[in-house]
Amino acid sequence: MTFAHTLGFPRIGAQRELKFALEAYWAGDQDQAALLEVGRTLRQRHWQLQADAGLDAVTVGDFSYYDQVLDMSALLGVVPERFGPVTGQVDLDTYFRMARGRAPSGTPAAACTMTKWFDTNYHYLEPEVRADQTFSISTTALFDQVAEAQAAGHAAKPVILGPLTWLWLSKPAGGDNFDRLSLLDALLDTYAGILNRLAGQGAGWVQIDEPALVLDLPQEWRSAYERAYHRLKSAPVKILLATYFGALEDNVTLTCNLPVAGIHLDAVSAPHEVTQVVDWLPSHKVLSLGIVSGRNIWRTDLDRALQTLKAAQAKLGDRLWVAPSSSLLHVPVDLAQEAELDDELRSWLSFAVQKLDEVVLLKRALSASADAQTLAQLSSAAQAAEQRRQSPRLKVAEVRDRLAKLTALTSARAEPFSERRAAQQTVLPLPLFPTTTIGSFPQTQSIRQTRRDYRRGDLSQAEYERRIEAEIRDTVRAQEALGLDVLVHGEAERNDMVEYFGEQLDGFAFTRFGWVQSYGSRCVKPPVLFGDVQRPAPMTVRWAQYAAAQTDKPMKGMLTGPVTILNWSFVRDDQPRSDTALQLALALRDEVLDLEAAGIGIIQIDEAALREGLPLRRRHWQTYLDWAVGAFRLTVSGAASETQIHTHMCYSQFNDILGSIAHMDADVITIETSRSDLRLLEAFKAFEYPNDIGPGVYDIHSPNTPSVEQIIDLLEQASRVIPAQQLWVNPDCGLKTRRWEEVTPALEAMVSAAKVLRQRYAEQAPALGQTAKV
Ligand code: GLN
Ligand code: ZN
Repeated sequence: MTFAHTLGFPRIGAQRELKFALEAYWAGDQDQAALLEVGRTLRQRHWQLQADAGLDAVTVGDFSYYDQVLDMSALLGVVPERFGPVTGQVDLDTYFRMARGRAPSGTPAAACTMTKWFDTNYHYLEPEVRADQTFSISTTALFDQVAEAQAAGHAAKPVILGPLTWLWLSKPAGGDNFDRLSLLDALLDTYAGILNRLAGQGAGWVQIDEPALVLDLPQEWRSAYERAYHRLKSAPVKILLATYFGALEDNVTLTCNLPVAGIHLDAVSAPHEVTQVVDWLPSHKVLSLGIVSGRNIWRTDLDRALQTLKAAQAKLGDRLWVAPSSSLLHVPVDLAQEAELDDELRSWLSFAVQKLDEVVLLKRALSASADAQTLAQLSSAAQAAEQRRQSPRLKVAEVRDRLAKLTALTSARAEPFSERRAAQQTVLPLPLFPTTTIGSFPQTQSIRQTRRDYRRGDLSQAEYERRIEAEIRDTVRAQEALGLDVLVHGEAERNDMVEYFGEQLDGFAFTRFGWVQSYGSRCVKPPVLFGDVQRPAPMTVRWAQYAAAQTDKPMKGMLTGPVTILNWSFVRDDQPRSDTALQLALALRDEVLDLEAAGIGIIQIDEAALREGLPLRRRHWQTYLDWAVGAFRLTVSGAASETQIHTHMCYSQFNDILGSIAHMDADVITIETSRSDLRLLEAFKAFEYPNDIGPGVYDIHSPNTPSVEQIIDLLEQASRVIPAQQLWVNPDCGLKTRRWEEVTPALEAMVSAAKVLRQRYAEQAPALGQTAKV
């Protein structure tokens, strides 16, 4: 019989129970025993779901109070010195201090760095290692949980993060520079100890996650894989080495030949590798095929999955296992809660609970004597799949027509930047070092309340609009008082920069409980982009126009870009993402034109998530960048030369993609730089960025007020690599998470700094001062 299992299950709870328990504990509203009880209840519930679905083992070790990478660091006893000496066990508050800098007990210290987990929207905490790092088993959570599952009568399959992926994700502490592989032997001793202990508890199989195998790895690291698994092969357990999130590519032979009892392959992202791996797999090894997506929310095309599985089964027999492609951590918990979705749409979807059923159904379908119930379920799944393929809701002829007619002319702006710049200067008399903000202003309690009341129907549309207008008016007044040059309306009407647009576009649906963990207790609820995207009516014009009418200063309109909307949604899987991006671009293009027609002369299109869409393998980058940048260019292609297009990105690590960023050809780009110590500016020494740029001059993520001197200093540094005429002055991101008491002094400092610099430049280089109005 085929073995059915999952690589992991969401831990947050169908009602986000873990989130609320964590936050109550951190706030001191609940004691640790209450938190631990919620954890225990969730684990029991999730194991029971797996057992009831008919999986052959439950997965243990996927539960976490914050993050599975941090769990591994704690298990290994790797706690940075600033959190105090650890004698014996790493306790829960030390763990939380590593995650968030503070906890109900213990001295606060700078939290560990949070980083995106591969190409998902989940974030892990980077392990910090020293050259003289030692390792020892320092938590019992994993072993306790194995005992807990066994006591509940489950067959437990423990999962741990593998030594090489853990080490790959780690970074040398405090700027130490050493080869992290020098720690491998000591690390493996502790891993061997963990496996021994699990064996002692009666664990037969242990899943060891090594997703780093889908990355471009240096040769030393590839060799280290062999060394590591030869060392661990004497452990008295069977190792299932799990790879996911991509194809193995150049690591395929390496992986197949590692001395482990089985490997797991992500057959959703690497369907083309299945045959190869089936053929190459040494004859005693198990192959677990991840055929149900752990990353997306669409119901699996079971017929297609079965074809793949049957072909593999013909060769492997009972050595074939079936599973989701990755942990189900990245999908919401249970579709059954979504009573508000229409039946048709619901029949196309599958969340974690449903995906367990799909895995088991596939297992049953593979057995020689599939029963009548299995066959009936298969045929109803096939029907839903067919119905989705045929659904008129997926395709809008008009959208397809427009896309088919796109030409090079309609997908780029008419004139080059130099000419646009001249045109813009005549209609937009801006000083040197123009000041602006990124879009949002503080989202006060009363703004949130207004939106909530309106949503619930407790506020009439007229009253809602009156209140939003009042907020906009106040925000405009405040910006005038600060002396900013380019104003914004403040985004009071927006709950979220993607949801706001998704809600107004055709082709999107929204769930009620479709939460996915982003980090720690934070969850996001991505919209479901299921069909062709169309804009039935203008989305932002009304507010932009109102804002513009409140002032004589230039008003900047504010849109979220196509690639960001795409990357932060669950996207249809029946056409390439690049096609969906173009549809979004077309809808946003219409919005740009409407804003322009309404007299908005500056329009910002945020692409906060463009970089995070980069494929894991470098050789796939350019393809992605080409279509992503193409979608942005299409969005702005209709704008007149006089219209100034801005874009914003919340990061500055694009030294490696500067060419593509420049190819976006925004007239102005505002970016994050203050936290990265102007590292980006280094890149500008080599690459002459042609258009205007606003290197964020202070960190909005911190409540601290920047000083005028700090800002001047930063801008002077910037002007050494970027001509002063190209520089804008702005914070490094939107201000919605800050309070007015923080925003006002910070922007005052920013405006003062800009004035000082204008003065300096007017004195030093009068000619330069003349090109723009000082
Ligand atoms: N315009 C958005 C804001 O200011 C941009 C947010 C972002 O880049 N994450 O809030
Ligand atoms: Zn930002």
